Amino acid sequence: MMQRPDNTKEVLPGPVLLLGAPGVGKGTQAKRLMDEFGIPQISTGDLLREHRKNQTQLGLMADALMSSGQLVPDDLVNKMVETRLQQPDTQRGYILDGFPRTLNQAEWLDAQLTDAPLPVVAVSIVVPEQVLLERITGRFSCPVCGTIYNQFSHPPLQPGVCDRDGTALIQRSDDTEPVFRERMKAFQAKTSAVIEYYKAHGSRFAQVEGDAPVDQVTGAIRAALRRLRQAAALPQPSPAGTTRLKTTSNV
Ligand code: AMP
Repeated sequence: MMQRPDNTKEVLPGPVLLLGAPGVGKGTQAKRLMDEFGIPQISTGDLLREHRKNQTQLGLMADALMSSGQLVPDDLVNKMVETRLQQPDTQRGYILDGFPRTLNQAEWLDAQLTDAPLPVVAVSIVVPEQVLLERITGRFSCPVCGTIYNQFSHPPLQPGVCDRDGTALIQRSDDTEPVFRERMKAFQAKTSAVIEYYKAHGSRFAQVEGDAPVDQVTGAIRAALRRLRQAAALPQPSPAGTTRLKTTSNV
């Protein structure tokens, strides 16, 4: 039986999926939810980059696909996620960031979690495509603490240096315009079907407007999770609405 942690004031999140195109803010929001709920962020992109850095068999296989913005084969990614979900820190829930990205991955995940205490809920973050390009090409992060900056909308105090720990910031090799275009193609061809898959199960799905200040987006995701968890607790499935924010400025 899952135990409610002290730092979870209102809702026990259980397994949460953050879905959306490259640059919508999945990583940023996942880190915030992780701090808030005390559950891990599991980013398949981060796990794959770690494999690449360590030159494991998986990393070597994934390298060219990642560099060109294409998806890594389902069976390899599913196996990697299966291994990660066996870690004890996932017991109270986790945030999957960037997974599932194909229907096959979504169906595999459902099959894995048939006996889980809480059903998976999915939050899709939506941002207009023209905003995404600026976010992606302006994105830098700290390799030590993981803080994400954007040279246009959220620059560090000193160019190229992390505000928190003074480390030199790095840019992902696939955060270039040509690779962004390929990643968008993969998103439209494969991942948009995943969003439809969860949308078809209304009580497991919410959509949040991501072209808004970061705090506002976090608040909208938090509200969506609360509503989805309440809906999941009801004896009859109930339709979920859409959490909408007024569009203000770019994040
Ligand atoms: P991300 O950090 O989520 O943008 O992912 C970076 C790259 O890793 C993607 O462009 C894909 O090449 C690969 N990748 C990450 N997650 C997945 C996934 N769930 N399925 C297939 N490939 C993935």
